[in-house]
Amino acid sequence: MKITQLEPIILHAPVTRGGIADSTHKLSHWGAPGVAIHTDTGHVGYGFSGTHAHLATDRLIVDCILHSFGPLLLGEDPREVLALWEKLHKQAEIYWVGRAGITHLALGAIDIALWDLKAKEAGVPLWKLLGGSAQKKVEAYNTDGGWLNWPLETVVSDCKRLVEEGGYRAVKLKIGGPNPREDLRRVEAVRQALGPDIRIMTDVNGRWTLPQAIQTGSRLQDFDIVWIEEPIYFDDVEGHRRLAETIATPIALGEQLYTASHFRDFIHAGAVHYVQPDVVRLAGITEFWQVADLARCYSLPVVPHVGDMCQVHQHLCFAHPACALLEYIPWLRDWMETPAKIVDGYYVAPEAPGAGMTPNRRALEEINRA
Ligand code: MG
Repeated sequence: MKITQLEPIILHAPVTRGGIADSTHKLSHWGAPGVAIHTDTGHVGYGFSGTHAHLATDRLIVDCILHSFGPLLLGEDPREVLALWEKLHKQAEIYWVGRAGITHLALGAIDIALWDLKAKEAGVPLWKLLGGSAQKKVEAYNTDGGWLNWPLETVVSDCKRLVEEGGYRAVKLKIGGPNPREDLRRVEAVRQALGPDIRIMTDVNGRWTLPQAIQTGSRLQDFDIVWIEEPIYFDDVEGHRRLAETIATPIALGEQLYTASHFRDFIHAGAVHYVQPDVVRLAGITEFWQVADLARCYSLPVVPHVGDMCQVHQHLCFAHPACALLEYIPWLRDWMETPAKIVDGYYVAPEAPGAGMTPNRRALEEINRA
């Protein structure tokens, strides 16, 4: 099996109600820039990154895939994923100018496509290739009811609907708005509406300073919150360590970290409790696995971020022992051949061979039109 061609892909899918916001970002579409890797056997592997659908940025990612990494892949056997990951990591000239950012988003998309090919060629879903089991329970928590730009009544009614009709037993709320009292009001209202048995997560998206995080974060304890996600700036290891020592509510982070070494620094410092790697921001499945192993060594649960809209992460969760809970956001479900399926709040193990990112016909038509 040899790689014969890399085909660029950029897909932009609309988000819920045409626009969502957290404390730091506003977006109308979710971006999936990536690649289709063609082979001489006819198998095609798909891998995408996850972005805010800014076309110029997505083109940079796709250009990096095609021109910085592509020539090193042609003629290679895609099943030798680990060796290819090392080759791209060591030999691609792009690493001289960027060891994270676009370089890693691009390598992540390629790595996912290579694992997709390996699983498709073996005729099994990725979780099975990785040694997982469909018997494992992988719970879903839903973030798509708690956006910061939605009025409080909408957030409350959406969260109730997710619990009562969707079967979810855990939801996430975006906080970190300009008024901390309003943040606390939102959390309190949702806690009252959902009762004591539903788990609530909160996400600040890196907005607070350390004193704000200490002040408002410590009050979240009153509402029995599972975690505070990215309370302060994404890269600040020491700040998160100090916060973790100060407040009782656990800290979750990782969606903005680009390498396994970033995770090592946070984990080793005691600056994170729930580890949230994202396969599309790390350099793919290969590096995700390193992070999940590391977290397990420190007895930390791994709860992946949903940059892939859970299509790949669901496979990783059915396979890796550190993962039992996974975020859910539905924005790519109308564009994938086999969208993630959740029944009564739990993921159903995918049956189709591959890593889960094969676009459906509608997506391919859209991509070809663009
Ligand atoms: Mg987040």
